[in-house]
Amino acid sequence: MNKQLYERALSLLTRFYGYRSFRPGQYEVIEAVACSRDSVVLLPTGGGKSLCFQMPALLAEHGVAIVVSPLIALMQDQTAALVANGIPAASLNSSQDEAYNRSVMQAAVDGKLKLLYTSPERLLQGIDWFSRLDISLFAIDEAHCISQWGHDFRPDYTQLAVIKEQFPTVPVVALTATADKLTRDDIINQLNLYKPYCLLGSFDRPNISLRAYSNPGAKERLRYIANLVRKYPQDSGIAYCLSRTGAENLNKALCAQGIRSVCYHAGMSADSRNESMRRFLEGTAQVVCATVAFGMGIDKSNIRWVVHNNMPGNIESYYQEIGRAGRDGLPAEATLFYSYADVITLQKFASESGRTAVNMEKLARMQAYAEGRVCRRRVLLSYFSEERSCDCGNCDICLNPPVRFDGTILAQKALSAVMRTGGTAVGVFTLVNILRGQRTSDIVRAGFDRIRTFGAGADLRKEEWTDYVSQMIQLGVFEIAYDDANHLRVTPYGMRILRGQDVLELSNYVPPTAKGDGRKKKKIGSEEVAVTDPVQQLFAQLKAVRLDVARKEHIPPYLVFSDATLLDMAVRRPSNIDEFVQVNGVGEKKAVRFGRQFISAVRKFENLPATLPSGTSLKETLILFNAGESLGDIARLKGVKIGTIQSHVAQLITAGFITDFGKFISRAEYERIIGELDAHPDTAYETLKEIFEPGLISIARAIRDIRKS
Ligand code: ADP
Ligand code: ZN
Repeated sequence: MNKQLYERALSLLTRFYGYRSFRPGQYEVIEAVACSRDSVVLLPTGGGKSLCFQMPALLAEHGVAIVVSPLIALMQDQTAALVANGIPAASLNSSQDEAYNRSVMQAAVDGKLKLLYTSPERLLQGIDWFSRLDISLFAIDEAHCISQWGHDFRPDYTQLAVIKEQFPTVPVVALTATADKLTRDDIINQLNLYKPYCLLGSFDRPNISLRAYSNPGAKERLRYIANLVRKYPQDSGIAYCLSRTGAENLNKALCAQGIRSVCYHAGMSADSRNESMRRFLEGTAQVVCATVAFGMGIDKSNIRWVVHNNMPGNIESYYQEIGRAGRDGLPAEATLFYSYADVITLQKFASESGRTAVNMEKLARMQAYAEGRVCRRRVLLSYFSEERSCDCGNCDICLNPPVRFDGTILAQKALSAVMRTGGTAVGVFTLVNILRGQRTSDIVRAGFDRIRTFGAGADLRKEEWTDYVSQMIQLGVFEIAYDDANHLRVTPYGMRILRGQDVLELSNYVPPTAKGDGRKKKKIGSEEVAVTDPVQQLFAQLKAVRLDVARKEHIPPYLVFSDATLLDMAVRRPSNIDEFVQVNGVGEKKAVRFGRQFISAVRKFENLPATLPSGTSLKETLILFNAGESLGDIARLKGVKIGTIQSHVAQLITAGFITDFGKFISRAEYERIIGELDAHPDTAYETLKEIFEPGLISIARAIRDIRKS
């Protein structure tokens, strides 16, 4: 490890991001890229990929890092976050007017940007213009888009090999949250990376608890989501649906219950989509009912839950979507509602996708996850080739191991009903209705209400039967004739059960529940009173401050500070800037920009006087100075005389923290002061005092001393 580089990186990490340490693996990539080595970064969503190219971009002495990203929303989000941290970044994209794009290009040419985000199209079209730039590195974000085997193939990405041809000496770092081996090899080969350093991080997100429920009814789903909203009143969640109509209907149903929900899908006008996004990011909407069109690049860190109202078509997508919850590392929940209707729809998509075999296989793996009766995290991680030898303890299977019972009689009822309707004439839906004795018009028309098994299972609810039949399909009692209206067909194993030659074990049906509201409640009299500890109380107040600040600044709250940062703040209770920058996630720029409001809130909470004590701390002066404040402004902010600040600067120069003297003293002033000091050491001070501020004299002295040494 290059110790000097490491220390520089660490100090930039603290100054700009407010973090104290790198996550495992991050620094190794940073060093590789900083030493011009190609790299591949495979980390789950929320794993901290961005730092792997942002930090090398900051470390580079000159040049701009070009970041290729597939989505405009994603670019804008990241550049906004960088700028908020005081890092010069911008993006070139088609949603901005061309005059603005031209100004961005000029800034890049002038060397004023550390990072420039762009789409693959723009890079490829403008490759000649890019070749005239001084480029520190290329970052290819969402690099799995290059692979035809991936779930998100984008043809433009395959042309990115041109980067290595045009810029053979510039390092390329490719990043993705998709880890399967085929995709990884594709990335390396297609981008022509040279002996890349690979970071294959753990895909585990232990803070996300996992649950899956088979065939819950519409009411149960609604109740479940409503409970989540109640459980996390300050936070928000995403409900993913397969279709636009599905998203709209769910949204309506939630709104009808008085839940602040919005809808988001590609069929909406850009305006109403943006409005939904704004309300969600701001936190005034607690739920977004969305299709997969929503979410890429959403860096909102306080998403506490994700519910899939329908099953996605593959595990990669599923993992990416649930990964949007709990990015702050605090506990979060992911719930999958799964039904046979979903499987049938997804099978249709897969068969029309032009890559039927691959997509069918991916769907089968997803289905196995949903239906699985083993630790769900183990299933997920093994999909990403990550071995795990123990159960996670944070999924529904681990927490409530399924209770098994002898389901032979249930299976015989179902098998017999299928046989008596002709062997291949009914699907799951009709079968369940027959068993429960429902006289639907289809059943009456077909005469199925006259068979002997009609109503033979009337003692079980629809959800229970649907779940048991799903299990029977999964266990090979029935198969589904996809080529014949998805009707059920009895397998040889099924025949043996029907004849009493074999038995079947089933797992108890577990209805979905999202009980509790996080906080303990204590009964006092007849009222329920929430017992909130002071940290939670302050945390809530800090969130309110954040919303206020975000509105005033016209930025989404998460760009102010993440929940993890606010929580750390609530624990540390900083009452001045010096303490404020100790909070994890508070960089210098944000400390200066937002510090006042948060510190005031803390002081109020602690019953301290509202005005800050006049600051005498050197460190605080350095922070403010680094954030670009003038000496006059610093003096005013801290409520001290400018002379005090000048003496701070002199001390900071002596200590080696400030090396850029031109901002405090002109060359002429310096020479005049030092000349006088050298010529008349005894009387110089008296003479100079008439002309210069005493602070300036100290600064000149400090510079001279440091030059001598
Ligand atoms: P990814 O791009 O892999 O989905 P991000 O780069 O957006 O993930 O990082 C996820 C979150 O983790 C962000 O809020 C980021 O600020 C935070 N983060 C990244 N690196 C660190 C670190 N070293 N210490 C603390 N937080 C970090
Ligand atoms: Zn588990």
